[in-house]
Amino acid sequence: MARQLQMEEDQVFGGEHHSGRAVDVTTEGARAFELEFERTPAFEWLRENAGRFGFRLSFPEGNPCGYAYEPWHFRWVGKIVAKQVAASGMPRRPTGK
Ligand SMILES: [Zn+2]
Repeated sequence: MARQLQMEEDQVFGGEHHSGRAVDVTTEGARAFELEFERTPAFEWLRENAGRFGFRLSFPEGNPCGYAYEPWHFRWVGKIVAKQVAASGMPRRPTGK
């Protein structure tokens, strides 16, 4: 159900950014919108703490929607949903890859 709503939202609004609830982040030393962001301390911090503030990674690797992996794109979903996502485990790239 949530997946279907997400896909409908993307079709209607042209993506999560138009909802006003999504942000793209980067940090010094990482080019914007590049996978290298996932190798930064900033991403590691986000991976561990975003859920505490109600954010989740929208498109983790292997996401069921089939979207390209975007380690920089986080969406506010509220603390309850973010906590549920964190409890189910956010996919992470194996070390050394
Ligand atoms: Zn984005």
